Amino acid sequence: MLKVVDTHAHIHMPQFEGDRDLIIQNLEKDDIEFIVEVGVDLESSKKAVRLSYDNHGIFSAVGIHPHDVKGIEEDTLEEIENLAGFSKVVAIGEVGLDYYRNLSPKELQVKYFIEQIELAKRLDKPLIVHIRNAYDKALKILKEHAREMKVVIHSFSGSLEDVKTALSLGFYIGISGPVTFKNANTLRENVKIIPLNRILSETDCPYLTPEPFRGKRNEPKYVKYVVEKIAQIKEKNVELVADQLLENAKEFFNIR
Ligand SMILES: [Zn+2]
Repeated sequence: MLKVVDTHAHIHMPQFEGDRDLIIQNLEKDDIEFIVEVGVDLESSKKAVRLSYDNHGIFSAVGIHPHDVKGIEEDTLEEIENLAGFSKVVAIGEVGLDYYRNLSPKELQVKYFIEQIELAKRLDKPLIVHIRNAYDKALKILKEHAREMKVVIHSFSGSLEDVKTALSLGFYIGISGPVTFKNANTLRENVKIIPLNRILSETDCPYLTPEPFRGKRNEPKYVKYVVEKIAQIKEKNVELVADQLLENAKEFFNIR
């Protein structure tokens, strides 16, 4: 039996309004050891904490996504810090830089990325990082501020050079649905060189749905298609790969 883990989910989102409870009920039946529900702003961070508090098999992460940093008010990060004190909050995130959509001004993205890295450091929590079209800048900031920290670059979309930099800093790499996409050869080449003990499996649901469900809404149970693809790329037995990915997630988030 394949026990899998989804280290990056957003089931608080409205896309799950109709079947959220069912998905949660079925986690065990779907062979999902646990999921990490990730906040993107203060409201969703509160929801993530609530979901993890109420349910077996759900942990949470709290933080402000680069899209949403423009909405940060005077006491927002203090509230994030308070939320991080709840048991089952296993990381700060997702935080980072998104220069693709630029939904918040770049200066603000940089400012609050650094502030939230420092917050995670102070709280001794792992960090979940989102980077899009900003790998040079984000890795430079991480190099300066997040040395010796546990960091995952989630839904990795960088170059081979970026992978090497991230690995040299001891970071983990989050792999999600795009690894199954026809045109994702660069990502698959990257997966080849990432040591298996540095990979975290994730869905980023409701987004990035893997084949064969691409185009539909994503959900935690589809993480198994990501795990199968990683095993195929690594030319290893899928059960062994699933076990290792589960170990990685427990190690990264300090879940015992
Ligand atoms: Zn996400």
